[in-house]
Amino acid sequence: MKLSEIKATLADRGILLTKSLGQNFLHDQNQIRRIVDAADLREGEQILEIGPGLGPLTGALLERQVRLTSIEIDRRLVEFLRDRFQSEPLLTLLHADALEWLRATARDWSDWKLVANLPYSVGSPTLIELALMPHPPRRMTATLQSEVADRILASCNTRAYGIMTLLILVSYEPMGRFKIPATCFFPEPDVESSCLTLERRAKPLLDEGQRATYVKLVKLAFSQRRKIVWKLLKQRWKPELLEAIRIDLDLDPMVRAQALSLEQFVALARRLH
Ligand code: SAM
Repeated sequence: MKLSEIKATLADRGILLTKSLGQNFLHDQNQIRRIVDAADLREGEQILEIGPGLGPLTGALLERQVRLTSIEIDRRLVEFLRDRFQSEPLLTLLHADALEWLRATARDWSDWKLVANLPYSVGSPTLIELALMPHPPRRMTATLQSEVADRILASCNTRAYGIMTLLILVSYEPMGRFKIPATCFFPEPDVESSCLTLERRAKPLLDEGQRATYVKLVKLAFSQRRKIVWKLLKQRWKPELLEAIRIDLDLDPMVRAQALSLEQFVALARRLH
């Protein structure tokens, strides 16, 4: 969809965009192609799209003959999409809050891929929700605020490193990232965007039970970034147990959460579980 078509459609339908829903529509065909290429699609694959908007990505995905489920919260856009894609047997269009829908829908996502230009408002929680599912999608190609992509890709001992990094990278490996200039969207967002591709780890680092412990551990460790990690963890685990594990894993008694690597958090979770 070209910029002129987006503007004309919105005017025809009398749709005023809602900023709080992150309604910035992508009109640059080159960037849409790059996103679809990054998703590495196969005919007949199951794809989840969150926030189709006016459907520029939806259309490009359907051209690849994938089986697509798209979830849009805005009724006005859902009505437009129903008209635009009415003869598309490969599309299942849902009118729902994607985050609520994901939380309420128990499904094995392991054969699915996410391909989405995510609304800024729910980008991070949506990725975390999917990554922590018992059977998360094989690949996630998501356009996000660049700052969120930075947090996911951060190295330890940096300010960006934290809960977002650790909760996503425990299940996924980054496969690539490219920036999308604000001029490719209408209206132009105030923040920078990036398309990030994550591939599910071939071998999970933790089993489901250990992962639940890992999530509690990471959240508690980062609840106060400046505090020594062991002091925070004592709120939940016995000091003697923590000290024995600390010595065994050869960890610093004065360490703060941001100096512990993903591998060290994983090792800690395995022992604490
Ligand atoms: N995919 C389109 C594109 O690339 O032009 C639109 C992307 S726009 C950044 C985000 C879309 O997500 C909007 O259409 C917005 O209405 C929708 N949205 C916002 N919050 C949502 C939610 N919680 N669940 C589903 N869709 C949502």
